[in-house]
Amino acid sequence: MNITDNELKNYINTSNELDNPIYNRALAEKFDWLIPRNVWSGKKITDCTGTDGEDGFWPGAPEEHPDYDYSYTELNNIPDGWRKAFGWTLVCDIDAALTPQLRERFYITDIKEKWGVLRISTSYVNGALSDVLHQYEEASQYVCIACGQRATHMTTDWISPLCDDCWKKLKERQN
Ligand SMILES: [Zn+2]
Repeated sequence: MNITDNELKNYINTSNELDNPIYNRALAEKFDWLIPRNVWSGKKITDCTGTDGEDGFWPGAPEEHPDYDYSYTELNNIPDGWRKAFGWTLVCDIDAALTPQLRERFYITDIKEKWGVLRISTSYVNGALSDVLHQYEEASQYVCIACGQRATHMTTDWISPLCDDCWKKLKERQN
């Protein structure tokens, strides 16, 4: 099955969950740095043998992850709204910033929302990559973290950018 870039882009931009193993595998083949890794050893979960505990392939025993099935990738750690709004361009821009030397050593160590913006930590960084990550960190504060529309509110209890619709839903839930 040959999955085109356009199909991958639609998958990222429109899926409620990135839980399709066929598409995740295609993503991981195109962007191999999306394969989850042990953040300490840098080993890919796909290199986990399930029989050898000596290399510390993964937190916990390797045999707990013998059959990684592409039910998720690192991209699942980006909040849904941000992923739908700019996940595809983010992934393409990161990939374009990787030089051959950097690509060998590069992986994601952490993706999270912090103080209302997207924070991505990586094993190595260069100037171009640093620019890309900062650009999306800046942009994320204006995008609804829940649905991807333009954000018009910033929640204060748990700092997150929200659009009008998601803000109203949140207020209804809180009342
Ligand atoms: Zn929203």
